[in-house]
Amino acid sequence: MNMVKADLLASIRSSPDLPSPNEFARRVIRLTQDDKVSYALLEETIRVDPAFVARLIKLANSAWQGSGGRPVVSVKGALQILGLPAIRNLALGFSLLSGYRKGPCPQFDYQGFWSRSLALALAFQAISSRARAAPSDEAFSVGLLVNIGALALATVFPEPYGHILAQATLANKGKLAELEIARFGCHQWELGAELLTGWGLPKIYVDPVCFHQHPEADLSPVGSRPYVLTRGLALAATIADLLLDPASRTPEKVLELYRHGARVSLESAELVALGKQVATDWHEWANSFGLRTSTAFDFSWVEQVAADATLLSQSAPEDPASLRVLLVDDERSSRMYLKQVLQEAGYKVMEAENGRQALAAALENPPDIVVTDWVMPVMDGIDMIKQLRKTPTGAAQYILVITAQTDEDHLVQAFDAGTNDFIPKPVTPRVLLARLKAGARSIHLQRETEKNYRELQDIAAELSESNRRLQEMSVTDVLTGCPNRRYALERLQQEWSGSTRRQHPLSCLVVDIDWFKEINDLYGHDRGDQVLRQVSETLRAGVRTQDVVCRVGGDEFWVICPDADRVAAAACGQRLCDAINKLAIDAGDKRCGISVGVAQRSESMADPQSLINAADHNLYQAKREGRGRVK
Ligand code: GH3
Ligand code: MG
Repeated sequence: MNMVKADLLASIRSSPDLPSPNEFARRVIRLTQDDKVSYALLEETIRVDPAFVARLIKLANSAWQGSGGRPVVSVKGALQILGLPAIRNLALGFSLLSGYRKGPCPQFDYQGFWSRSLALALAFQAISSRARAAPSDEAFSVGLLVNIGALALATVFPEPYGHILAQATLANKGKLAELEIARFGCHQWELGAELLTGWGLPKIYVDPVCFHQHPEADLSPVGSRPYVLTRGLALAATIADLLLDPASRTPEKVLELYRHGARVSLESAELVALGKQVATDWHEWANSFGLRTSTAFDFSWVEQVAADATLLSQSAPEDPASLRVLLVDDERSSRMYLKQVLQEAGYKVMEAENGRQALAAALENPPDIVVTDWVMPVMDGIDMIKQLRKTPTGAAQYILVITAQTDEDHLVQAFDAGTNDFIPKPVTPRVLLARLKAGARSIHLQRETEKNYRELQDIAAELSESNRRLQEMSVTDVLTGCPNRRYALERLQQEWSGSTRRQHPLSCLVVDIDWFKEINDLYGHDRGDQVLRQVSETLRAGVRTQDVVCRVGGDEFWVICPDADRVAAAACGQRLCDAINKLAIDAGDKRCGISVGVAQRSESMADPQSLINAADHNLYQAKREGRGRVK
């Protein structure tokens, strides 16, 4: 992480050219955030800007299209069709987009910038609402503003920033960020995050802006809201790239799309549907903002690429420049000759004179490919291969043997020792390079497979973590955090089996709050919820560690007490009654306490339900006798 320098921030913030929503947009946004705002007032405010009215009506009509209704002609009609969140998006977008369509930096593509920001905004909006991670209009604004740092740099420092843009194409974002850091001390997303903080955006949105280009730098727990927002924004950026930039439509990009998608729990078909929806929305909105859009991109392409099992084999073979070859030959002249051929083809070459030297070199500084002569003094090629294959490093290398003996027996011997391929002597440059190319392809495939495998492992680990959380959620009561009825039934069954097997006692308390309805009726549902939480905390604090308190519905709790007979369980019930009484919860002219029914498992009971029935029966007895007691 780089710190955004104070003087950079100060000069951007004080610049009159800093992109920000205009007064009209701010008024509309403020009004639409107020639930009680009357449509009449909103209409009056909006009418002030005829250009905005025109866009609004146009957008409403396109939303209305196909439903067979009459065309929308009034602001009021448009407001009713679009609803407040869409009006807010339109006001913010319209104000930023119409105010900053041009600028002083000739290398900065202002139109393209807004077109991409719009796609990003719509994608992030769709992703966030699928993941229930953010309200749709907030997600839209974050998406629209995520690259605002670049716009600020282009607007406030047109010359140096233009120079940087000329050096890095937009396709090479890594390079761009590097150059930004070198010149300004931070990259555009770090700057953007600072600007948005200054505009009052909460941290939960600012962090994703800062991290989405490198989501792995964000260490929020898997599945948490910040985690989902950061990965969701990364996914939105990938979708925007695919929509806008034909050069980005590569198999690697599809892999990236799937990787980000998996992290916000979107699988292939959902990603494609979402991409298609975003593409349609983008065309519609860009149209209403008067922005250019590229030709339609069909997201089905993504599915085709992913489904294509030959994806791996089609990818480009490893660049020779990045491959290191260890050349092993005792004859200096032939070594020099082969070395020259390899170097001219772009390989990096290391040399060894015999098997022993080669072994040491291969283990100390592992090459990607070993090309070895067979017959050599000290240690021959085949012995060296056998030794090398026993080590983990050597097992992964691609080995080629050069040999004059190409009869069947010799070849079988060479392959048995672990060679991948052989070249008959005399070696010609064409054959050597062709064989090495095949080797490079095989290395590339192996590395891709390993990478994909590692990624799959990562995704599997994340999935198992989110499954664990789902599992936990499915047995937890949201209001109180207590285990719920589903858990209670399972647990009771377990304890029941254990207690029958071991002949240990098992008791259960059924607890119901007294006069709870009065609290709801007198002080409202929120107060009722608060009391439920207070009671559940007090119950949990009052039981033994082995007892389990569950909220099984409304104002009813079960306390499962393993290894407790009726007397011990009743004592526990009384302790709980006293603890709740101490809370002195007011229910109008009544005192809110609890009534408790106790039962112990007996031989005559057929199943756990009979135990609950018996405790329930006693609970009603307690209620009938005046409440606030244990029966
Ligand atoms: P009694 O003393 O006989 O138990 O009567 P009571 O007033 O406690 O009423 P009862 O147990 O029959 O009803 C429980 C009420 O709890 C009914 C329902 O409206 C309310 N309730 C159920 N779930 C919730 C909840 O999650 N929050 C709130 N605030 N109220 C709830
Ligand atoms: Mg009750």
